[in-house]
Amino acid sequence: TPLLSIQGLAAAVDEKTILHGIDLTIPAGETHVLMGPNGAGKSTLGHVIMGDPAYTQTAGTIAFDGEDMTELSPDKRSRAGVFLSFQAPVEIPGVPLSSFLRATIADRPGLEMRGKEFRRRMKELCAELDMPPAYLNRELGVGFSGGEKKKVEMLQLLLLQPKLAILDETDSGLDVDALGVVSRGMDLYRKSCDGTLLIITHNTRILEHLDVDRVHVMVNGRVVHEGDASLIDWIDEHGFERFEQEAAGDS
Ligand code: ADP
Ligand code: MG
Ligand code: MG
Repeated sequence: TPLLSIQGLAAAVDEKTILHGIDLTIPAGETHVLMGPNGAGKSTLGHVIMGDPAYTQTAGTIAFDGEDMTELSPDKRSRAGVFLSFQAPVEIPGVPLSSFLRATIADRPGLEMRGKEFRRRMKELCAELDMPPAYLNRELGVGFSGGEKKKVEMLQLLLLQPKLAILDETDSGLDVDALGVVSRGMDLYRKSCDGTLLIITHNTRILEHLDVDRVHVMVNGRVVHEGDASLIDWIDEHGFERFEQEAAGDS
């Protein structure tokens, strides 16, 4: 069985249907990319997989590790091993980043660590990501740039070691430094955790150093095209127009 198997998924916000029958399968250990024009429903799909209560699943199934997740709360899905990057960690003045990260694994069986072990692990991760460890003493989210938020996401990802990581890369304003951290983080996650990735993006630069197995293209709430990694270069050159025209012709 594939790690993630989505069939006939439809979802709505405030009675408005946004996802119209999505089929998407991700085998364990693979790196998949979800692309599509702005407003296609890519982020919505990520939120629906995570069980975000802002969205109503109106049809279809989402099976993870062979189990239907439809009735599970976001917390249960997270504990089952699904991770969705959120772009803006909350600002909590006075709480250092290290405490926040420690809390995210505090009640996870198999992940809890003693203080000393946690500090050693964080030092290791900072070295691997090429981040100054002093960063961990910063107050959570306060004055964080887009790139700094990305670094926090990568630390979370590598601490939690989820089975499936959905990374929504809508923020294209990353500097070279942050792009490096994201690339290194994804690579470490794939190799050291044997992780499975779904990267949502229209920023193809983030994909340059990744070994991509499959690309899914979404338009108007539907997956309209799929292909191998060569599709990324094709989209870089031609954009989404052809897919949008085909989708308009079909409906
Ligand atoms: P993408 O990530 O591909 O740019 P989104 O999933 O963000 O697309 O949005 C798809 C459509 O759903 C858009 O028309 C957007 O306005 C709408 N939408 C998404 N989330 C919400 C929400 N929470 N409330 C209202 N409309 C939403
Ligand atoms: Mg592979
Ligand atoms: Mg989006």
